[in-house]
Amino acid sequence: MILILASNTDQQSAGYRQLMVHLTGLQGITTRVHVEPGSEQTLIEIYLIGNTQPLDVADMQNLPCVERVVRVSEEYRILGRHKDDLRPSHFDYNGVRFGQDTLNVFAGLCAVDCPEHVELMLKALRDNGQVCTRMGAYKPRTSPYAFQGHGRNCLPYVFELAGKYGMKVIAMEITHESHLDEIRAALKQTGNSTGVMLQIGTRNTQNFELLKIVGRQQEFPVLLKRGFGITLDESLNAAEYLASEGNRNVVFGLRGMKTNMGDPHRNLVDFAHVPVVKRLTRMPVCVDPSHSVGTRAAAPDGILDVMHITAQGVLAGANMVLVDFHPAPAKALVDGPQALLLKELPHFLEDVQIARTAYLKRLALQQRYQNM
Ligand code: PEP
Ligand code: MN
Repeated sequence: MILILASNTDQQSAGYRQLMVHLTGLQGITTRVHVEPGSEQTLIEIYLIGNTQPLDVADMQNLPCVERVVRVSEEYRILGRHKDDLRPSHFDYNGVRFGQDTLNVFAGLCAVDCPEHVELMLKALRDNGQVCTRMGAYKPRTSPYAFQGHGRNCLPYVFELAGKYGMKVIAMEITHESHLDEIRAALKQTGNSTGVMLQIGTRNTQNFELLKIVGRQQEFPVLLKRGFGITLDESLNAAEYLASEGNRNVVFGLRGMKTNMGDPHRNLVDFAHVPVVKRLTRMPVCVDPSHSVGTRAAAPDGILDVMHITAQGVLAGANMVLVDFHPAPAKALVDGPQALLLKELPHFLEDVQIARTAYLKRLALQQRYQNM
């Protein structure tokens, strides 16, 4: 059960103290207080854990400071959607809104290789009106002998250039808790000229200790990618780990499932789950067409599979697109064969816009028929 308190409830007030005394007296129930600081108001939610079945919703509603009571199912308590649950399905970070109703494109380098390529990429994004990008510094690789990413050495120039070209948010995978400190230090060193969305890659979806550490900080939002070989439920529970530790600014990423049933694509595209994740949880949903498809193959109509599949995700209501581009794919150190070219960026963005407009039309159509 979740008690949602009236906005701006003061934790020092008599009413709040009275409420906490009452809750502490409930047998077999423990409480967990979550404070969500916002730009305009601070929201406090109290999670009651244990056997809440005997508690009466109306009684709880009458306790001091309580505005609303939501009875939650066991699954995805914090990030899930529950009956009469009016909690928001969006968050803001560094001036960018991430919600189940918005769409942000994160085009960029799978792996940072050199300052020249980073700058060419960022300039192209700026010139095309973009404020978000992806830049990989820490790369989990299949072979220990493969390039592992430049790590912290590239962070200062990546962040500095991102600031120069007006990037607000960089999606960046981390694979170890030490990377968090390295990112923090480099951001500070470069005057916090940009923001970072931490990415948990598919190989770490169930790295629970990493999830707990990343969940304990509220400074950076998190893009959690679906595990490539586990069920959707298992991946959604992984996202819940982040939230249960305190960070609910989580975007859920679909990136294809590992099976040869997807051949000749790198993975089996799973964007049919966009509406499913939106129904089960309040997380915005990201699609990654690059790691799903893994090639630059095109259909006989001339349209690249990466673009066809992006459109499928966006048409189904996806809220974020994470996509690999590279100024010189032949020289890319990771995933060159799936990267789109900088000259394809305007084409890609326009194509995404067509799909987004079609989605919004579908939504309007649904609303029209629903009201008939
Ligand atoms: C990536 O986005 O660069 C990446 C490695 O993705 P995934 O974890 O989905 O394989
Ligand atoms: Mn990659």
